[in-house]
Amino acid sequence: MNLVNLAEVAAGYRKGEAAIEGIDLALAKGDFLGLIGPNGCGKSTLIRTIAGVVPQYSGEIRIGGENLSRMKRRDLARYIAVVPQETIPSIAFEVRQLVMMGRYPHLGRMKAPGIEDQRLVDVALEQTAATQFIGRRIDELSGGERQRVFIARALAQNPQVLLLDEPTNHLDINYQVEVFDLLYKLNHDRGLAIICATHDLNYAAEYCKRVALMDKGRIRALGPASEVYNAEVLAEVYGVGIRVEAGQRVIPLSRRMEGERL
Ligand code: ADP
Ligand code: MG
Repeated sequence: MNLVNLAEVAAGYRKGEAAIEGIDLALAKGDFLGLIGPNGCGKSTLIRTIAGVVPQYSGEIRIGGENLSRMKRRDLARYIAVVPQETIPSIAFEVRQLVMMGRYPHLGRMKAPGIEDQRLVDVALEQTAATQFIGRRIDELSGGERQRVFIARALAQNPQVLLLDEPTNHLDINYQVEVFDLLYKLNHDRGLAIICATHDLNYAAEYCKRVALMDKGRIRALGPASEVYNAEVLAEVYGVGIRVEAGQRVIPLSRRMEGERL
């Protein structure tokens, strides 16, 4: 059974205006899908739609075989965890408190977190090298530090599917590699299914088993990077000259690099 299944899905923010459309996508245990495509192509909308937070959608979305529109938020949250793009929560939670929120969907009604919940929070903080931030307020961390805390919260949720929206955006290269290595490990060791939107085509090729190239709200190509990374297609979608080396290393060609006089 697929963990996530989308058939002919369209979604948007205003009635009659689709930000994404014609989306067919299946995600099984052990999948690691990279979502790529230029700004505004619909990556975040697709992630939010699967997370059940885009109000208008048509087509069919099944999560663990259940119809998304009939699922309770709490059941969905036990199944799917989301690391949103660059969020600064309006309430200045303390780091451990924020990561503990990942346990809420698992707690019984009116139940306080138990020893096992505490342990899972500690493990999640360790996995993202965020233990050192305990006691600090989330709004007092740098963008990259905050991002690691949000990944820890998602891990504490212990989901079957992890959705991440450009998780390495604010990270220096050291932590970019660490985040992708962590995702690799979670995917490889536990079979955690992952969808990760990213602007880094080279990380996507290196780490993701498949990539979906989005263009104007649609999936233009889907498959291993070695198949999707076609220089002509990428150049057309991104609107810039592109060279692909070794089947997966993408180099954007500036006009200056091409020897053009600017
Ligand atoms: P990406 O993440 O690939 O940059 P998005 O999914 O954010 O793209 O955006 C897809 C389209 O939906 C864009 O045209 C964008 O302007 C629009 N859009 C995104 N978020 C909202 C929103 N909250 N309200 C209205 N339109 C939105
Ligand atoms: Mg986005």
